[in-house]
Amino acid sequence: MINREFASSIKKLMPREQRSSDPDVPVSMWREKDRLRGYPETTMVVIFKTTGCSWYGFSSCSMCGYFNDVSKDIRSDNLKKQIDALSSTLDDVRVLKVFTSGSFLDPIEFPLDARNYFFSTLKGRVDKLLIESRTEYITESNIGYLRDYGIPIRIAIGLESANDRIMKDSINKGSTFAKFVSSAEIIKKLNYELRTYLLFKPLFLSEEASIADTLDSIEKSGKYSTDISVNPMNIQRNTMVEHLWKKGLYRLPRLWSLARILLEARKYGHQVVSYPTGGNKERGIHNNRPDPELLQLIYDGSLNQDFSGLEQYYNAADKSNYFEILDAEKVNLFQPDYEKLIGRISDASVVI
Ligand code: SF4
Repeated sequence: MINREFASSIKKLMPREQRSSDPDVPVSMWREKDRLRGYPETTMVVIFKTTGCSWYGFSSCSMCGYFNDVSKDIRSDNLKKQIDALSSTLDDVRVLKVFTSGSFLDPIEFPLDARNYFFSTLKGRVDKLLIESRTEYITESNIGYLRDYGIPIRIAIGLESANDRIMKDSINKGSTFAKFVSSAEIIKKLNYELRTYLLFKPLFLSEEASIADTLDSIEKSGKYSTDISVNPMNIQRNTMVEHLWKKGLYRLPRLWSLARILLEARKYGHQVVSYPTGGNKERGIHNNRPDPELLQLIYDGSLNQDFSGLEQYYNAADKSNYFEILDAEKVNLFQPDYEKLIGRISDASVVI
């Protein structure tokens, strides 16, 4: 399930040098709203600085630039200091999302003594926890005992697409839908919850094809998932997606398309959310013109699981130009960003 040529092209774009930064301080911490307990509430988010995703040793996913934040020198002691920093910032927030630049459940990236320190420190202080992992670390022996800490856990898996060909040739995920399903079954057996991430508009898919793939993936993964988070592409540094985007050969998805997905997905009856990173910005999902109201309706609909406001706005808008562009795009392997491409052509510098 690996396209070696694609994987190797991605690898070549990854920086050889790592930036030096304080190993005792998380990459970032902030508060935002989510609905991990079934209603909107303030949620703490931390990105721990780690040695990074095990997949980086081989390559990376085509959109993932989290390797920009890793350090090979991070040890358990550093992680414990990062956990202390989180602990002193948590205050009265009872819901926590933990990101690393890889998998929290990878015992090499996040060693067991640091993991156990994390749970001992937060026991009794957190009522709901979200952690992320690749499928290979979802085993009974690796995660079964975490229940003993008494913190309800939702594990997030980046499925990205239920289509193995897209996972291999557009994303370079190094996983399959079957692996997702077996991990989901273990999660269910252990009484944890599952958040499934889907990537909206990977490389080499037209926007229409990606809408169809996201809806199909929602349908297929929904029965295994507590909720599904649709993550529209954003441009991260030193990635294959950035490489093609800079040449005008990739156009980020439009907010209208995300609205279509959220509205249409209601027919499956699953909980679907989307909190786009960088929405309305150059490196995030955007229509031809910024539309703050549309983005806000997507957030609000996701948080409240009520998309009626989004539906009204969507139905009232004139989208003829949007549909014309999407029709034109269907015939292309690459998804040109016409404005960027014209700029590049006038510089005579279009080279793949
Ligand atoms: S599995 Fe996750 S962290 Fe690892 S390369 Fe892919 S997106 Fe990045």
